[in-house]
Amino acid sequence: MSSQPDIATIVQRVRDEVASRIGEGRVADYIPALAHVPIDRFGIAVRTSCGQSAHAGDAEEPFSIQSISKVFTLTLALQARGEALWRRVGKEPSGDPFNSLLQLEHECGVPRNPLINAGALVVADCLVSDYEKPLDALLSKVRSLAGKRIAFDTAVAHSELATADRNASMAHLMKSFGNLENSVDAVLDAYCHQCSLSMNCCELAAALGYLADCGSHSPVASAESTQGTGATPRATQIVDAARARRINALMLTCGTYDRAGEFAYEVGLPAKSGVGGGIVAVIPGRGTVAVWSPGLGESGNSVVGVEALKRFVALTGWSVF
Ligand code: GLN
Repeated sequence: MSSQPDIATIVQRVRDEVASRIGEGRVADYIPALAHVPIDRFGIAVRTSCGQSAHAGDAEEPFSIQSISKVFTLTLALQARGEALWRRVGKEPSGDPFNSLLQLEHECGVPRNPLINAGALVVADCLVSDYEKPLDALLSKVRSLAGKRIAFDTAVAHSELATADRNASMAHLMKSFGNLENSVDAVLDAYCHQCSLSMNCCELAAALGYLADCGSHSPVASAESTQGTGATPRATQIVDAARARRINALMLTCGTYDRAGEFAYEVGLPAKSGVGGGIVAVIPGRGTVAVWSPGLGESGNSVVGVEALKRFVALTGWSVF
């Protein structure tokens, strides 16, 4: 395989290769807004570091990004707290489901990593403390990375809040251990809103480009970003290169929950999944690929999404291993 594969052909081919499997898995049904998403959707979008992009299927249809938001909030919390964040949350894979309470009791309220729910609640707590308007800060960060259309889906956020008993249990347990600075309600409100962010595959691939490019984000050239001048939009440093590498390490080891080992074996890319059926993977130095298909497997990762990423890596040879 050449080092510059034709990504437009590849995304079409991936879509064709997984077509017969679309519909596998189970759509998340803990809230109506997710339960009603048609299972037959599939989208894939790729964006390369040299500015190419391609997409296929339902790549422009917005969906609930859910736990993929944990990468954005982690980025913001690291910006505000730096390495001190790691006193409150670990860097180890959990090997347990994303919403498990088991380790939290044994490990005195310090979650294993920031990409499971308990860890993301600690991260959300930091944002509530450190930003006057944490949700505005999150939304403006994501919009600056991927476009002004992006918004919270308030119906999803309110359903999440109404069914947040398990997340509330984790938050209370962590509070009892002194690992939450704010009220459980304030933290849950921030967390449930971040989960409700609505984005499509093209936006997600664009938004996480900084993790592929040593922390530097290059906006897509558009009338909006160049204010009609036709100039090449300027790159912005979102995090430094070392931090981008470390976020990628966490995504590789923890981003797909208790399937992270198998995912590393099968796909071999840092990635983050969400129960909305999205997965974003980072190919360091090369680009990003986002897939979406709402049918989930046992661990809460999109069945067809994982399959599509396997095929993508097989066709491109793009893997960290
Ligand atoms: N809203 C979901 C929850 O908190 C997000 C989980 C996920 O996407 N894995 O349970």
